[in-house]
Amino acid sequence: MDIRFEKNTILKEKPDFEHLGFGKYFTDHMFVMNYDDHHWHDARIVPYAPITMDPASMVFHYAQETFEGLKAYKTEKNEILLFRPEMNAWRMMNSNQRLCMPLISENDFIEAVEALVRIEKDWIPSKKGTSLYIRPFMFANEAGVGVHASESYQFVIIASPSASYYKNGLEPVKIYVEDEYVRAVIGGTGNIKCGGNYASSIIAQSKAKQLGCDQVLWLDGIERKYVEEVGTMNVMFVIDNIVYTAPLSGSILPGITRDSILHILKDQQVEVKEEKIDIHFLMEAAHDGRLSEAFGCGTAALITPIGELLYKKQNIVINNHQTGHITRLLYDILSSIQWGESEDPYGWTRKVK
Ligand SMILES: *Cc1c(COP(=O)(O)O)cnc(C)c1O
Repeated sequence: MDIRFEKNTILKEKPDFEHLGFGKYFTDHMFVMNYDDHHWHDARIVPYAPITMDPASMVFHYAQETFEGLKAYKTEKNEILLFRPEMNAWRMMNSNQRLCMPLISENDFIEAVEALVRIEKDWIPSKKGTSLYIRPFMFANEAGVGVHASESYQFVIIASPSASYYKNGLEPVKIYVEDEYVRAVIGGTGNIKCGGNYASSIIAQSKAKQLGCDQVLWLDGIERKYVEEVGTMNVMFVIDNIVYTAPLSGSILPGITRDSILHILKDQQVEVKEEKIDIHFLMEAAHDGRLSEAFGCGTAALITPIGELLYKKQNIVINNHQTGHITRLLYDILSSIQWGESEDPYGWTRKVK
């Protein structure tokens, strides 16, 4: 792929890398590529700037939009690592297929990400826990308000130096179990990454906030009985030393962190059950003291311990609000691979040269 580079003549002042927050600052450049007449063209890295669009652009009306999220990590030796970027490329193809949008090959996807990361390498913070969060996204930009697949699209990648998603790192959060609204049903779009999924979930998130919780635990869309995901993360529970997580049945996002954790657990000889988890089974296990740990997992926060669940006015505390043994072990193993502190026995990291 030919990528034209137009250097920004006015470089921004870098933010304080000690106080980055998540997704607040953006680098000097962005990757852009257009799709018209059945092909991608004009791949370029240009100054980060607003995008001008026709008000009739289809994405504004019918939400043909998909996205991805991955990170570039800087190691102590100043090397730059990506974590399983081919999985993001494949997931985006899958998302695009579902929304009738054009595909980008694994090679082109990774080449575009790497080209931007190389140019913005001084924006990658190096302290453990911090990284350059990379956000590729694609949207329909044909002008017209008839409902059909757009004929033209734009693919953009922006990047944001970020600290860990939660201010306090591995600090257990309080989760509200949502029993009114649902996130996804089988046959819908819950198993792909598209903006529309989030538009409909924000109402539950604000409900959770009002009740003093940090995130929402979603139940299945039919019976509101089986545990699916937590906010923007997959979720796992440790009951009687067995790790439970929902199977990829079609309404769950196939997380790359989830997949990596399942590999690690197998190697650590921890028993895993990928099966439907009944919320009543979970509450009962909590009451009996058998639910010893719970955590969310995803690229943004990596691992988020869950210290408390609120379900229909019942409050349960997990592991006395402490981060559990398996939760911490997984965080240590995964984070040391991602920040290049330990060997990567899985071949998951990819050096950006
Ligand atoms: C992105 C996302 C995840 C986590 O996926 P990772 O690949 O691990 O970052 C989980 N659930 C939802 C709904 C997501 O959008």
